[in-house]
Amino acid sequence: MRSEIIKAVEQAGVVGAGGAGFPTHVKLQAKADVVIANGCECEPLSHSDRHLMQNEPQAIIDGLALAMQATGAKKGIIAIKAKNKTAIQTLSQHLPQDKTISIHGLRNYYPIGDEHLLVYEVTDKLVPPQGIPPQTEVVVLNVATLYNIARAQQKMPVTHRYMTIMGEVAEPKTVSIPIGISIGELISLAGGSLTDDAAYIFGGPMMGQLVYDVNLPVTKTSAALLVLDRQHSLVLKKRFWTKNSQRQAASYCYQCKDCTKTCPRNLLGHDLSPHKNMRQSGYLQAQKALLNLDAGLCSGCGLCASYACQMGLSPLEANRRTLKDKTKTASPGAPTPHPFRNSRFVPMGRLISRLGLRPYNIPVPYDSKRYTPGLISLALKQHVGVPAQPLVNKGERVLAGQLVAETTVGNLGARLHSPIAGCVMETEPNLLIKH
Ligand code: SF4
Ligand code: SF4
Repeated sequence: MRSEIIKAVEQAGVVGAGGAGFPTHVKLQAKADVVIANGCECEPLSHSDRHLMQNEPQAIIDGLALAMQATGAKKGIIAIKAKNKTAIQTLSQHLPQDKTISIHGLRNYYPIGDEHLLVYEVTDKLVPPQGIPPQTEVVVLNVATLYNIARAQQKMPVTHRYMTIMGEVAEPKTVSIPIGISIGELISLAGGSLTDDAAYIFGGPMMGQLVYDVNLPVTKTSAALLVLDRQHSLVLKKRFWTKNSQRQAASYCYQCKDCTKTCPRNLLGHDLSPHKNMRQSGYLQAQKALLNLDAGLCSGCGLCASYACQMGLSPLEANRRTLKDKTKTASPGAPTPHPFRNSRFVPMGRLISRLGLRPYNIPVPYDSKRYTPGLISLALKQHVGVPAQPLVNKGERVLAGQLVAETTVGNLGARLHSPIAGCVMETEPNLLIKH
């Protein structure tokens, strides 16, 4: 049974829907005591997971039960913010009688969905700093991934996903959309842009990527699109962080340590001090080895940059560049959470205000209308591992749900299925399929 579940998940092309897209069939090969369903919906203003939990409670619980079977876990815990009362109520009505699955209410702070933090909050276990949850016999799966696991058992591949479109659009909403549709079409679905000079944050304001191209396609891991004016402070900051040389940025750093005091990984006891990375960035290359830094422990949550630093700097970028320069050093040892950890959480409301996103913090409805685009663009690499290889040729007709790209046997990756019926227009760099 275990191998059948894992095989079905692999065949359906399921990847982690809430993160980088790690292939789920590989994750399910771990042994665990507990499977945590991550329904935290960490990114400010995103509602896609909440809407999915409200609309598909049974499928999520079925997916969790299957993940428990695959990993040997006796316990399943749905982690969800206590404020999401409707979703909690809906899920509660579908819990199994045997009490193997329960709900754990969480406080509304950022970034509670980070796996290290979530495992500690829910189980009191500390994942080793450079480790992964299975080292503490816990597996964490996003609720959208669990939904896809349940569908995989019905032989339904991953072709659609829930996505919230928010910000400067006429009708912010969550919709279920085919993977491969463009940012431009998403904006049309939300009634159009309210600004003529828009920038787009793909994936959410904190960890999302700032882009300007409306032709970029949705992938299996895209949960939200934030449309902002190019002069919005968050857009300007993100541009500053990536465009300025780190050495130039670090020269403004006055070593107040606010970034380190706020860093959730540091508060969990990890040997990660972003202010030291900023200091290092201002040093000459030869001096880098003097500091014992571990940029590899950074989760990329962005709190140091978007919330903590009063100088508008990004220690997160310093961490990324440190990793690129290969100057990181390992920091083994068991973490000890900081004694002030509980008083340093960043409440979501304060974070939204600090980001300048209060005007967009409004109720967002779910739109159940189905949408078939004229053209989809499937990125061959939208998961961790090697890119999928096309199985179809230019000019070939495909059916909705047909397997169109595959990962070579033995490689880490995930296969792709066409969300629509149509004709293959191109096979690289993306698979273009015209309805
Ligand atoms: S918060 Fe900003 S100024 Fe303070 S140490 Fe960190 S990067 Fe430097
Ligand atoms: S992005 Fe900044 S706050 Fe978040 S884990 Fe990395 S260093 Fe810490």
